[in-house]
Amino acid sequence: MVRGIVPRQPAKTGRQEGARSKRSPDRTAGPRPGWPGQRPGPTRAKVSKQTAPRTKSTRASKGYDPLAPERIAEILKRLDQLYPEVTCALTHEDAWQLLVATILSAQSTDVNVNRVTPELFRKYPTVADFAALTPEQLEPDIRSTGFFRNKSKSVVGAAKRIVSEFGGQVPDDMAQLLTLPGVARKTANVVLGTWFKKADGIVVDTHVTRIARRLELTKNTDAPKIEQDLMKVIPRDKWILFAHQLIWHGRKLCIARRPKCVDCALENICHAGDKTWSTVEIHKHAKL
Ligand code: SF4
Repeated sequence: MVRGIVPRQPAKTGRQEGARSKRSPDRTAGPRPGWPGQRPGPTRAKVSKQTAPRTKSTRASKGYDPLAPERIAEILKRLDQLYPEVTCALTHEDAWQLLVATILSAQSTDVNVNRVTPELFRKYPTVADFAALTPEQLEPDIRSTGFFRNKSKSVVGAAKRIVSEFGGQVPDDMAQLLTLPGVARKTANVVLGTWFKKADGIVVDTHVTRIARRLELTKNTDAPKIEQDLMKVIPRDKWILFAHQLIWHGRKLCIARRPKCVDCALENICHAGDKTWSTVEIHKHAKL
């Protein structure tokens, strides 16, 4: 760094000094570019009245219902505009490959898994090839995805069961998928939704958990309860896409530490307790 130049720090109030002029267009001028269909921004007077300093947490306004159908519809509409056709980022050509990739993605990244799987499926092209392995034989091939011993046991165990119980075909049924070693509802939902296009539930991973809590769609922290909460308020025909949209949003903007709220199309309907920039009041509890 050039001596004497001190990097700018975020304002302690949570408002990013100069954000309006440098990072974000003037809200008084109407919708931001990249916010398709967004309603015109608040007036300058309203901005200052509505703005709640991040450090001064406030309770939800009386009568505010985060699960109100109109609010849910608005969230879905904006997600559709932002991420109209997103899908699973794990590279796969069939249900078995997607199942393996999803098992390997636990505590890893999709990019990391996608580096490993092409060679893995070239080496072992069929479920039967995996079923013929011992977990120890598979370990070196998936080592870089982390937790490779447990993952080897799960993949080989799932392959053996698919061959012995399901005729070598990945079942397209939640109850049957859950009998496979290493497969819980998240993995089953990924396979059912992405490959079989069956909406039996909603994928709840770390991104979905974080954003569902920030948007006050759930107060729970464990995945099965979060899934149940989301299934109650999200229309069934949106379950598959909604999860993919939250996952993409979590990667691009609503990241775990210092979410990029100033660039977020959901900003004026999000009251997350850990927002980095806000034109609406903050609800302290709405975070992980
Ligand atoms: S406003 Fe911030 S916390 Fe809320 S959804 Fe957008 S990025 Fe996430």
